[in-house]
Amino acid sequence: MNHNLIDLLVCPLCKGQLQHDKANQRLICRFDRLAFAVRDGVPIMLIDQAETIDLDELKKTSPANFDNVEASNSDQNQPLHE
Ligand SMILES: [Zn+2]
Repeated sequence: MNHNLIDLLVCPLCKGQLQHDKANQRLICRFDRLAFAVRDGVPIMLIDQAETIDLDELKKTSPANFDNVEASNSDQNQPLHE
């Protein structure tokens, strides 16, 4: 199978690195919170077809080795003012 090909794909929207969620056969863009389905090994890289995923689901699917800009931002303490 062309696993390497999938690893090279980037998000069509932000051109960011995609996370390969092998368990659910999809590619996830954490930045846009979109999941692109992989059907028969072929990723469907269409924004129309992508699923929106919420933050909770994002956290569940994020492996420890997937770091990006968003992760480092969210690690910082948010100032508490309203
Ligand atoms: Zn993206």
